[in-house]
Amino acid sequence: MVNPGNPKQLYDIIIIGTGVTGWGAAMYAGRMELKTLIIGDLPGGTIMLTDDVENYPGFKKLTGPELAENIEQHAREYNIDVEDGLVTDVEHDKKKHTFTITTKAGSSFKTKTVILATGTKPRKLDVSGEEQYFGKGVHTCALCDGAFYKDKIIGVVGGSDSAGKEALLLTQWVKKVYVIYRGDHIHPEPINMTRIEKKIKEGKIEIINNTNIVEIRGEKYVKSVVFDKPYKGKKEFLLDALFIEIGHIALSDLAKKVGVALNKKGEVILDRNAQTNVSGFYAAGDVGDTRFKQAITGVAEGVLAVYSAYIYINENEEQE
Ligand SMILES: Cc1cc2nc3c(=O)[nH]c(=O)nc-3n(C[C@H](O)[C@H](O)[C@H](O)COP(=O)(O)OP(=O)(O)OC[C@H]3O[C@@H](n4cnc5c(N)ncnc54)[C@H](O)[C@@H]3O)c2cc1C
Repeated sequence: MVNPGNPKQLYDIIIIGTGVTGWGAAMYAGRMELKTLIIGDLPGGTIMLTDDVENYPGFKKLTGPELAENIEQHAREYNIDVEDGLVTDVEHDKKKHTFTITTKAGSSFKTKTVILATGTKPRKLDVSGEEQYFGKGVHTCALCDGAFYKDKIIGVVGGSDSAGKEALLLTQWVKKVYVIYRGDHIHPEPINMTRIEKKIKEGKIEIINNTNIVEIRGEKYVKSVVFDKPYKGKKEFLLDALFIEIGHIALSDLAKKVGVALNKKGEVILDRNAQTNVSGFYAAGDVGDTRFKQAITGVAEGVLAVYSAYIYINENEEQE
């Protein structure tokens, strides 16, 4: 039985964020019989944007949405409260050892501990034309928008594993994918690099290294991009769409409000037990400063955060 959040309740844990990290933490918190509320605005989070997940132990292959749904359903087996909405404020009462969480809709909830699992938002290129053509040829999710570009010429910006996966996915529909990367060579997981090399041989993928996009041009929709240096003799390069996959920005503003330390990238600084520098405030998943950000690492940190919160609550109760 799942209940909506109760404003009169003092929760043991409030989890902010309904991605895989948040739901994984909610499952453990529910099992530990902690009074738990999970609040989020977009069910499933970032993993919803990818098709094949082949690196979550226990599942040889499933889609991102299937993984998110499985973890959520597992958490909902337990007695936890769930609230849909965007959290806009967190206040810390240091004397009472409580936090007050407020949502955009104006509801507020009190808790002994907080687990921040708000993830990230996609980083933008920050070039002329990007805003103007967003959704009109400029995209950040191949799974959501790739099928619109059947037999078209597409660019993917970025050199990470995520960028490589986006390029591979797009080859299902499009005529050709140009992967445009500012560095010397792209660096996907070796298994995905092997797949990309196969697509390069088939003429479906071409890599353009050491190149930045400085402008996106079009009329109603994207028609071309401009490079900072010529490629095959030209700076303006014709493309029907551009998928931007150049990393993410941590959504850590709520942590900052209560004095949680962030690194230079704005990620929450965590110890091995998912603790921050503020007692009772934990973070996990993509919002944290862990180098390798994956579903499995986020879920694991969420679980560590729950256990840390459990110990903290018990220690505080013994002292009172
Ligand atoms: C293209 C791509 C492919 C990927 N492929 C893989 C893969 O194959 N395997 C793998 O393991 N990982 C993969 N990843 C990485 C994986 O998706 C992430 O590491 C993981 O989803 C992070 O989960 P999270 O719950 O920490 O954050 P998120 O999934 O970002 O979830 C955060 C949640 O918090 C919510 N939120 C944010 N702010 C607030 C707020 N103020 N109030 C309420 N809610 C809020 C968001 O709406 C969201 O629902 C991929 C990523 C990308 C981009």
